[in-house]
Amino acid sequence: MSAEYNPQCLFNLTYGIYVVTSCAGGKANGQIANTVVQVTAEPARIAVALNKENLTHEYVSRSGVFGVSVLAKETPMTFIGLFGFKSGRDVDKLAQVEYKEGSSGCPVVTENALAVIEAKVVSTLDLGTHTIFVGEVVAGEVLREGEPLTYVSYRDIKKGKAPKTAPTYHGPPPAGAKERSGVKLERYVCQVCGYVYDPAAGDPDNGINPGTPFEDLPDDWVCPVCGAAKDQFEPEE
Ligand code: FE
Repeated sequence: MSAEYNPQCLFNLTYGIYVVTSCAGGKANGQIANTVVQVTAEPARIAVALNKENLTHEYVSRSGVFGVSVLAKETPMTFIGLFGFKSGRDVDKLAQVEYKEGSSGCPVVTENALAVIEAKVVSTLDLGTHTIFVGEVVAGEVLREGEPLTYVSYRDIKKGKAPKTAPTYHGPPPAGAKERSGVKLERYVCQVCGYVYDPAAGDPDNGINPGTPFEDLPDDWVCPVCGAAKDQFEPEE
């Protein structure tokens, strides 16, 4: 057997983007996870891998139940940032989104979700940094038709490569937006989450017009995905 191993091979695996929720002791939380898979059909079971440091991991361990929301392709980056780059120990994430109480008593997030699934943990596997929770599906609902968000399209949108068909595409930049005084406007990358600020596109969701150079962003502007401050950005290589 060959011992060759190119870590890049793992980048060919495909994933979705989900919100996994749980609750314990009267508190609830949710987090982004890309590792949610159906593992058996009879009975229907799903598995999710969660980092042990996450609050949701603690709640699933304690309650033995979890919810999964399958996110739609047009889910805004700020929504993903809330669940993916903030801790439930610092913010009440569920207070900021639409959710409903599931059959287990724990919330399932309905905002930006195509479907919600609830599962009761039947097996766990300790993997050091993470735990895999295998849950038997106890409830599930299709909320609306749509295309699920994949990890690849999430990454492309975040890096400013949104296709023109994407709802996050804000149209062509105004004439002269790419250059000012003959100088090409530089793109800046968030060192926390990888979001790319493209001056040609601006950040219209947060009142920043297309054509605004990074240097001209207000001091209190923050990364629309993870909330990092301006000084966490570096020019794109
Ligand atoms: Fe960021």
